[in-house]
Amino acid sequence: FAKLLRKEASEVIKKLIMLGIMATINQEIDVDTMTLIGDEFNVTVNYKEEVDESNFEEVEEVDAPEDLIERPPVVTIMGHVDHGKTTLLDRFRESNITAGEAGGITQHIGAYQVEANGKKVTFLDTPGHAAFTTMRARGATVTDITILVVAADDGVMPQTVEAINHAKAAEVPIIVAINKMDKPDANPDRIKQQLTEHGLVAEDWGGDTIFVPVSAIKGEGIDDLLEMVLLVAEVQELKANPNKRARGVVIEAELDKARGAVATVLVQNGTLKVGDGIVAGNYFGKIRAMINDRGRRVKVAPPSAPVEILGLSDVPNPGDPFMVFEDERKARAIAEKREAKQKEEERGAMSRVTLDDLFKQIQEGEIKELNVIIKADVQGSAEALKGSLEKIDVAGVRVKIIHTGAGAISESDIILASASNAIVIGFNVRPQPNARVMAEQEKVDIRLHRVIYNAIEEIEAAMKGLLDPEF
Ligand code: GDP
Repeated sequence: FAKLLRKEASEVIKKLIMLGIMATINQEIDVDTMTLIGDEFNVTVNYKEEVDESNFEEVEEVDAPEDLIERPPVVTIMGHVDHGKTTLLDRFRESNITAGEAGGITQHIGAYQVEANGKKVTFLDTPGHAAFTTMRARGATVTDITILVVAADDGVMPQTVEAINHAKAAEVPIIVAINKMDKPDANPDRIKQQLTEHGLVAEDWGGDTIFVPVSAIKGEGIDDLLEMVLLVAEVQELKANPNKRARGVVIEAELDKARGAVATVLVQNGTLKVGDGIVAGNYFGKIRAMINDRGRRVKVAPPSAPVEILGLSDVPNPGDPFMVFEDERKARAIAEKREAKQKEEERGAMSRVTLDDLFKQIQEGEIKELNVIIKADVQGSAEALKGSLEKIDVAGVRVKIIHTGAGAISESDIILASASNAIVIGFNVRPQPNARVMAEQEKVDIRLHRVIYNAIEEIEAAMKGLLDPEF
């Protein structure tokens, strides 16, 4: 710091001491102190925090207001099964056929854009909550507006409510499409009534939720619905800056035999270009080619555009963020850093209890109690085993039985074990195949026994560090 000030270290130390800081030459001083010392020497201290570019959220870019332009809304369609989500998505897609574009959008890349009143709307092409939820689980909120489809002849169903809760949790505005209005038993008022119970009150009922009656099959009301989407989008004032490097989210990705890793990405900000060095999830690449939702090669993809990209080193996950960097080399470095960080995090999460390293974990003080789930052929055996195990006490570490049951080891046993860091003992039972797979993924330790005494002995030995290594 003294060097930066072009002063002797002793002069800086003197000032520090005058401020009451008994400093030595290799003392660390904080920004506030530096600012104060700077003042003393009539120097203004500016500082820039170092940004970890591998953490995309940390990379902040300030946009000049004049660079911001309106961007199309990104819309998801949700609702109960068979209420018409797919049919509605097809209708929207067809509504876009313009002269010279017969056939319209033939390419399914996971999202598509349509135009209405000279404005674009982006639809995520995966009906249902799966896309919405996996993306949100990865921290990506891509949706600006949700269309909730409710069949007029069926009414509010469990998945309708689920969809509402997803949208509310993500704070995404909902437009209700009352579908199948062509059906003789269509009853839109009943839907309005039912939805008020979930906080969606129609405008003509004094609320602020937009309801649009449609028939996806006949194509009726589709234009009205699109218009409402544009209206809600206008209120949201969705903006982006097309004059900077792109960032966004992976919508879909797969390994194509001929083309290698192919990912559909949604550009959320900036403009994506062929030739860009890109990081998507933990992978990197230089964009070799981009293909839009009409199967055409494009050179650029502006904000809210979905586009298929070629050139990634491997297949990222839906919901993974992507970002453009100076060049491929930089992208590679960032991707490697992201991967290393993820491994590190996984290692932390994988400090899961297993009998093989139980002793070590006990010694390191990581474990004070061994959580156990017991599944047995009959509840009586499970209880007997429980009683015996609970008597074990090795140097103050005890066994805690968190669940017992009769029957095969199921997936829900593994979920419970995984959530509560437990091992699973099967007595005269085996895991179901999918439970076995899940246990491997979740690193849950399953021990199978036919003799109660052996089960007890194994646990005791593990707690004492006397377990024979398994081969
Ligand atoms: P999803 O499961 O929500 O994607 O529902 P689909 O779009 O697959 O539709 C389920 C069924 O309802 C299909 O047989 C459609 O043909 C039918 N359907 C969809 N929309 C309408 C509509 O507006 N009117 C009528 N009568 N049937 C419809």
